[in-house]
Amino acid sequence: MAESPSKSMDKIMALCKRRGFVFQASEIYGGINGFWDYGPLGAQLKRNLREAWWRDVVMNPCGGLAGPDGRPVQIVPLDTCIIQHPQVWVASGHAETFNDPMVDCRETKARYRFDHVEVFVPAEGTGGDKPLFAFVSGTPSEQKQRRKAEKAWGSVKVVPLTSVPREQWPRVLAPEAEKVGSLTEPRAFNLMFKTYVGATATEDDVAYLRPETAQGMFVQFKNVLDSSRIKVPFGIAQVGKAFRNEVTPRNFTFRSREFEQMEIEFFCHPEHAFDWYRFWRDWRLGWWKSIGLGSDSLQLREQTQDELAHYAKDGAGTSDIEYRFPFTAPGFGEIEGVAHRADFDLSTHQKHSKTKLEYFDAERGELLPNGSHKGERYVPHVIEPSAGLDRGVLALLCEAYTEDASRASPELLLLHPRLAPIKVAVFPLVNKDGMPETSEKLYREVAEEFSTHGFVEHDVKAAIGKRYARMDEAGCPFCCTIDGQTAQDQTVTVRDRDTGAQERIALDRVVAYLRPKLGL
Ligand code: ATP
Repeated sequence: MAESPSKSMDKIMALCKRRGFVFQASEIYGGINGFWDYGPLGAQLKRNLREAWWRDVVMNPCGGLAGPDGRPVQIVPLDTCIIQHPQVWVASGHAETFNDPMVDCRETKARYRFDHVEVFVPAEGTGGDKPLFAFVSGTPSEQKQRRKAEKAWGSVKVVPLTSVPREQWPRVLAPEAEKVGSLTEPRAFNLMFKTYVGATATEDDVAYLRPETAQGMFVQFKNVLDSSRIKVPFGIAQVGKAFRNEVTPRNFTFRSREFEQMEIEFFCHPEHAFDWYRFWRDWRLGWWKSIGLGSDSLQLREQTQDELAHYAKDGAGTSDIEYRFPFTAPGFGEIEGVAHRADFDLSTHQKHSKTKLEYFDAERGELLPNGSHKGERYVPHVIEPSAGLDRGVLALLCEAYTEDASRASPELLLLHPRLAPIKVAVFPLVNKDGMPETSEKLYREVAEEFSTHGFVEHDVKAAIGKRYARMDEAGCPFCCTIDGQTAQDQTVTVRDRDTGAQERIALDRVVAYLRPKLGL
């Protein structure tokens, strides 16, 4: 199938709106920057991704694969509150360090994340006194500044603002600014949304919307241990909303202010932490591939020492699983981080809450004459695979988006059948000769089987080619059509979205035929 070498984000966003995948939040009021709603198809696609993760991580961890200790991987679920005790964020370091350095523009009052600002500079040296044109990639400022820079300098190149020496900052022209030199020195800015708990709303009542789901799992570590028979090594997993007051939300849903995370905190003995780190890093990469993210647009990248978050200790590793989005290409953007957090979180909560968060491992320690072990008490180390649900959905949509001028639907979504929001469509070829009645019957049977996993559609209107095209554009993998032959031999055609090929299948075998193809 012909696929365009570079996909257009504008076209993907237009399709998302047209077919009800993603809408701007509060659109009729002009929208609200950094917030997105999911339409009918998007809501189901997102749910399918969340459920696939839940099933493969929590209910059937790693598909039954043994961990590095040779035993089945154990994970238990949890669902904790968005608002936690404010001390949680002091202990976690978010209150202190969850700050991205920012630069403000004194002229336009816009605020930018320091590491997001790039600058067009002359390709040959930065001499002269003409302006250096700052922009944020993926925003309208990029094209505007490029035009101005090329007019001023001829040939230009891009460098990060972080690498522009301070003595040259008076020459930097900020996006949308008229005068050079309007950017302030970088300063810290807290990304947590602040709110008040209770009616009085004094400074004593301040609370924060969680910037990650992770902390709830550390804070409940002891309750989970005490209330179940689970033993280290094991993981806690949860899915839920997180909020970050991002300074420059952009690139569609990629950087939003409200988003959903799918996180695992995996607790293990410190000696085994690196084995588990490698295990999770590799298994998570394979998982994304298994649900349809092509291998050449997906990569694993070990973070450099400079990028490591505040919890990373010497030698601790963090890998990002990255996807080549149309707006990052030829570069990549993170969809999941797999971090070796050592004992940072449990130790800090132990210290701040004055509650012991150690584990007593009866199977370790000195061997006693009676054949049992003396036991060992330790604070487990943690491996954290932390994935973004919204970024996952966006990657799936970008990967699935395909242009093919030779088809009735020149734009279509080749979504993995397991994730597709519409699983199956059932049509009568024409709306007469008993065909609608037969298709209605088949539709009910198919819907009964598959509707917990997505929509099953029944459409009797329009020319058949048009109905197929509509389904292709929405990513529906299979269409079943009742035609003139059905009444004679009790078969229907099943059309495969990817190839357009049609097969005749007995009416009473349609469900059994589709089930494995839908990955159910
Ligand atoms: P970035 O460097 O892109 O800001 P991060 O490294 O801060 O991301 P983490 O704190 O590791 O992100 O969060 C884990 C996952 O949560 C990310 O891999 C991403 O998928 C998702 N995520 C983080 N911030 C956002 C956001 N603003 N919008 C959507 N998803 C996000």
